[in-house]
Amino acid sequence: MVWTLPPAESGNLKDYQAARRGFDWGLFHAEFDWSRGGPYNVAAEAVDRHACNGLSDKVALLSVRPDGAVRSLTFEELRESSSRLASGLMRLDISKGDRVLVYMERCPELMISLLGTVKMGAIAGPLFSALGPEAVRDRARDSGAKAIITTPGLLRRLDPVRDELEEVEHLIIVGEAGGGSLSFDLLLASGDPDFRSVDMVPEDPYVIHYTSGSTGKPKGILLGHKAMLQQLMACRYVVDLQAEDVYWCSADPGWVTGTSVGIFGPWYLGATIVSYEGRFDARAWYSLIQRLRVSVWFTAPTALRMLMREGDGLVKEYDLRSLRHVCSAGEPLNPEVVRWGLQTLGQRIHDNWWQTETGAPCISNYRCMALRPGSMGRPVPGVEAAIVDEAGRELPPGREGFLALRPGWPSMMVGIWNGPTRYQEYFQIPGWYRSGDLAYRDEDGYFWFRSRADDVIKTSGERLGPFEVESALIEHPAVQESAVIGKPDPLRGEIVKAFVVLLPGHEPSEELKEDIVQFVRTRLAYYAYPREVEFLDSLPKTRSGKIMRRVLKARERGESPGDLSTLED
Ligand code: ATP
Ligand code: MG
Repeated sequence: MVWTLPPAESGNLKDYQAARRGFDWGLFHAEFDWSRGGPYNVAAEAVDRHACNGLSDKVALLSVRPDGAVRSLTFEELRESSSRLASGLMRLDISKGDRVLVYMERCPELMISLLGTVKMGAIAGPLFSALGPEAVRDRARDSGAKAIITTPGLLRRLDPVRDELEEVEHLIIVGEAGGGSLSFDLLLASGDPDFRSVDMVPEDPYVIHYTSGSTGKPKGILLGHKAMLQQLMACRYVVDLQAEDVYWCSADPGWVTGTSVGIFGPWYLGATIVSYEGRFDARAWYSLIQRLRVSVWFTAPTALRMLMREGDGLVKEYDLRSLRHVCSAGEPLNPEVVRWGLQTLGQRIHDNWWQTETGAPCISNYRCMALRPGSMGRPVPGVEAAIVDEAGRELPPGREGFLALRPGWPSMMVGIWNGPTRYQEYFQIPGWYRSGDLAYRDEDGYFWFRSRADDVIKTSGERLGPFEVESALIEHPAVQESAVIGKPDPLRGEIVKAFVVLLPGHEPSEELKEDIVQFVRTRLAYYAYPREVEFLDSLPKTRSGKIMRRVLKARERGESPGDLSTLED
């Protein structure tokens, strides 16, 4: 029996089947100014359209400092400052198609930098501020960036690699500039407040996002201006946003979630976004929701598991009744987390699946649909997803295969920087885009994530995904998190090995190991329980919060772990 949650009341999407049947991207075209002769540019649609159409004084951004101070910017303020920056970049001889990296802590200037860069037709490359100097150098060199917009503190962090940034012609500093760098403020002050967005074509890239590096060296994914169609659709139907919402997406703009459904998508709908400038902190997060009356929240499984770890007593100290809709993406969402969301937040958590390469959610749970915890949901309106074999044949329900999409959805990557061959690899199954993930579909069309293709465990002649074992493990009362891999074994091919992080108050012991193994054994197929358990203080994760199983696998095999530029400290 599958655990099912009934549909939630009222949402933007009323009838999933009907929306898919009658779907027409043209209806979304009509919402954008370019359909009425405006320039084709995501920045124009995200802010200028509202600034010029009656929402000029509406707050677009609430940027919250860790000390609680809030800076707010209206659509008009964003329009003007991004125009000033765009014209300033033009004067620096940066042109259409050039790459401008934005390496900055979350702050209003980060948003202005992204908008200004995109407005003048360049490609913005947001980099998470926690990346180290080598990671920034690699991305600057790979992308051939002409400029980096950063802060004095982060510029100092780049000192060890400054000599290796020969191709970077301009360092633009938010705050005190010096030593051959340019002042962001001066650039704005002398810029043209009425600079008009450059008219692009749908396939022109506006952003280069480096992937999380979970499976290997991060790829520079290019998303085109036409992605706005799907980002609007997804923010309406998946994120369930309305213009009146106060919306917080906790993902950093250095990752695709942070821009597609964190900045641009919600602004197409005229919603107010919240940006938290600090790091993860359970109290700060809850109090932010309470104080700003956040109504829609987009977060990730890792963050939710960290909140769970803090215990339910903490949640009860806050009034979170402003919340109306909650989403999660980026990693599989364990049913245990869904259960927690229901019990403590009183919210269904809507899992959705996508990738940097897909540019926007492609499979999702919706308010109007019954939710099956552990399932990613069903394909978004306008996008076709399937489970296929090597030859592109669709597999029947229940059979694991390649999770594939019909190419041509609006937010599909338009290329990989320096990676034309790598790009082609996604399209080797005739008629399909291959995601690199394995999944299956049930009788009712719900998709269930199995594993990344690289992570699949082959044990005793069976195939197994780490997610199901990890989900069973975290149901154990002593387990906070776990990562499961296949460990080479002469007899079974591989055995299931689990790395386990314990909840506070639990100590590692042989008895606990045995208890955990027995616990999982009663819940999963006979071959799926971990034959080996190792306790760790923390799991290796990417800076976007994803478990890096390849690091554990490499360690287990005595191999080199490969690119570690996105590994958390
Ligand atoms: P890299 O491609 O560099 O190895 P990455 O794949 O983690 O890193 P992203 O593009 O950020 O980089 O992540 C996309 C991947 O995240 C998907 O292919 C999938 O494996 C996983 N993912 C995202 N959302 C979900 C979800 N809702 N359920 C299960 N897995 C998900
Ligand atoms: Mg990937």
